[in-house]
Amino acid sequence: TVKNQLERDAEPKESDFEFKNTTISLALSDDGEVIVQNLYVSIDPYQINRMKKQSSSHKAIKSSSALSPGQVIDAYGVGRVVASTNSKFEKHDLVAGFLGWEEYSLIQGEFKLSFLRKLETSTDLPLSHQVGVLGLSGLTAYGGFYNVGRPKKGDKVFVSAASGSVGNLVGQYAKLSGCYVVGSAGNKQKVEMLKDKLGFDDAFNYKDESDLTSTLQRYFPDGIDIYFDNVGSKMLEAAIANMNPFGRVVACGAVSEYAYETNRASPNMIDVIYRRLSIQGFITPDYMKDYAEFASITSDYIRSAKLHVLEDISIGLESIPSAFVGILRGDNIGKKMVQIVER
Ligand code: NDP
Repeated sequence: TVKNQLERDAEPKESDFEFKNTTISLALSDDGEVIVQNLYVSIDPYQINRMKKQSSSHKAIKSSSALSPGQVIDAYGVGRVVASTNSKFEKHDLVAGFLGWEEYSLIQGEFKLSFLRKLETSTDLPLSHQVGVLGLSGLTAYGGFYNVGRPKKGDKVFVSAASGSVGNLVGQYAKLSGCYVVGSAGNKQKVEMLKDKLGFDDAFNYKDESDLTSTLQRYFPDGIDIYFDNVGSKMLEAAIANMNPFGRVVACGAVSEYAYETNRASPNMIDVIYRRLSIQGFITPDYMKDYAEFASITSDYIRSAKLHVLEDISIGLESIPSAFVGILRGDNIGKKMVQIVER
């Protein structure tokens, strides 16, 4: 559970969480309820926004899903049904959906039940893939890149946080769509991996660069057509300064602004106007309707080794606080998740 809410400008610490024992039981509600034993849970940067005590600009988050002290943190994951009063789910079913950073989750209410999805037990792909590449990260990359980015063959694409869960997939989808792709990441090892393993055309360590606008000019002498933004702040400002006319900015995340509001981006709106840029945000549930298409195409890419899967798995419930603090420091490569229990 959350022990301490965070101040507006603060990074989370492991001590902001605590472990609690509690009893859960099924009630006979109209929708029915399900208890799931959690196997893998997703560790996502956006949870920091839900932990903030106050936020001047996250009103939507504040009202819908802010976390109070003592509250369990719900999170995407996969698990096995251990009890159900819901006619759609039976004991032993494998499921994916909004579970929690806990050993067992009680799934109740329309939103969470509508998200809960039965998994095929016969699949040849590892169950962990359902959390990342075939879960919300994959759908975020696919839905955002294709719907908002609207790529064309030959487009020049820039992806930030490119070695992360969403970013590495965006870069790989972009390569598979015939685009020229450059990624930014926070250390040398990540940069090498993007170029050597994932086939990015180029990559750079943003921490080595003092003037991001000239850096992007160097990597994109002919301008950027699509910027898939995972970080916001200075990188967003620099990307906008390098966009081609009618370029698309896919506003996916702003991880460099989450801890400190003082990092807010202030893009040059004159550039946006005269270059007729589109900047569009989205949230992954917008694309749930495309899930079947996305999962089928992506599974085929994985099976034919056209798409590399990067997973970064910690073991045990007690590793969740350090896993979470770690992704906001850039410790992870690919999808960060915690395996709560072996199958
Ligand atoms: P990642 O796996 O990419 O992990 C976060 C990464 O962000 C770290 O590995 C780190 O890599 C980078 N990072 C951390 N702090 C900073 C910083 N101050 N400046 C620049 N980079 C930083 O996470 P996800 O793939 O899950 O998420 C990527 C983005 O997508 C996030 O902003 C997230 O909130 C957003 N998102 C949005 C969704 C939506 O519905 N719109 C859904 C899911 C995710 P590095 O070493 O490169 O610094």
